[in-house]
Amino acid sequence: MVKETKFYELLGVSPDASDSQLKSAYKKGALKHHPDKNAHNPEAAEIFKELSHAYEVLSDPQKRQIYDQYGEEGLEQGGAGGGGMAAEDLFAQFFGGGGAFGGMFGGGGGMRDTGPKKARTITHVHKVSLEDIYRGKVSKLALQKSVICPKCDGRGGKEGAVKKCTGCDGRGMKTMMRQMGPMIQRFQTVCPDCQGEGEIIRDKDRCKQCNGKKTIIERKVLHVHVDKGVQPGTKIEFRGEGDQLPGVEPGDVVFEIDQKPHPRFQRQKDDLFYHAEIDLLTALAGGTLYIEHLDDRWLTVNILPGEVIAPGAVKVIRGQGMPSYRHHDFGNLYIQFDVKFPDRIGSAGEEGPEMTPEDVAALERILPPRKDQQLPPRDAMLEDYPLEDVDPTREQARARGAMDEDDDDMHPGAERVQCASQ
Ligand SMILES: [Zn+2]
Ligand SMILES: [Zn+2]
Repeated sequence: MVKETKFYELLGVSPDASDSQLKSAYKKGALKHHPDKNAHNPEAAEIFKELSHAYEVLSDPQKRQIYDQYGEEGLEQGGAGGGGMAAEDLFAQFFGGGGAFGGMFGGGGGMRDTGPKKARTITHVHKVSLEDIYRGKVSKLALQKSVICPKCDGRGGKEGAVKKCTGCDGRGMKTMMRQMGPMIQRFQTVCPDCQGEGEIIRDKDRCKQCNGKKTIIERKVLHVHVDKGVQPGTKIEFRGEGDQLPGVEPGDVVFEIDQKPHPRFQRQKDDLFYHAEIDLLTALAGGTLYIEHLDDRWLTVNILPGEVIAPGAVKVIRGQGMPSYRHHDFGNLYIQFDVKFPDRIGSAGEEGPEMTPEDVAALERILPPRKDQQLPPRDAMLEDYPLEDVDPTREQARARGAMDEDDDDMHPGAERVQCASQ
């Protein structure tokens, strides 16, 4: 007759179970309750630990004998030599290393955070305009979180009215056993006495505010400081401002700064990039460019006559970029120019101003001279050609026609090169 049956009950076997029965019972129970598989169920982790401890004792003939004779107390008194194995280690040993198990559940190798239990972190992406990052601001952000019920201090009912459930010993889960022929089938079930709560509160003692849930939902406004020049991806942490749950450390709230796209500026670290389209006249003869900045100022940019802005040119205005985060200076504003050429300067017979010989002479006077070209030899035959605009639809039709011809041409490439060089 054994002194205690608790360890056997945990594993769901009878006290005369064989080693192989113990082994398969542990394997089944441990797989089911492994913390990696029950991340949201702290009770399972407890059961896992207990199961592992029970198996550790019962699988060792010497310890099992002490347990059978003196119960758990006997083990504690040093009969087993102390140095109990951690549940995870035992489990890993059992399945030939944590690796195989990690693969089984997609877990991270079975190592868990062993710090105090903490409620989940609430993460929120806070989208901010470039203007707000330029000037800095305080955003008031509201969140819904659970807080310990102030009326019952998180007990769920009147003081002394909340009792640990005796049916499951407060675990919320219950081990039931069923005799099936020579086997004892053991299964876990939600405790029917407390519906898995682990506690019993009589209806009349139940807290009216939280209805026995111990927490209530509260709206909380947090002031998020968006500092001048903050970089996208910066995380602002509010420690302990997250969910409160009974018996665990309150969670954190984390805001991640995200920068909204801006219609005028692109940002790269502390520098701003701006795309300016100017006309050919401004590019050559000068003019003024107005750039609306991020703080209601307008920058007046003067292009001097004859400065000449080439298409694609990049210029810089120093110190007009973003404020640099927690330093007291500014990045640069880079301006890339697009020069819009006129479609046509009117010539004889067409509308618009004509380019007169005087105009041409004026241009010839101020612009660099025409580039020297290689002249045809004196005896070359010369022919005159006008330039035509390229008509895309005609070009497409032509490309299709050329492809058809190529089908029965052995060397289409060579043919075309010859044509082109004529
Ligand atoms: Zn119960
Ligand atoms: Zn309450």
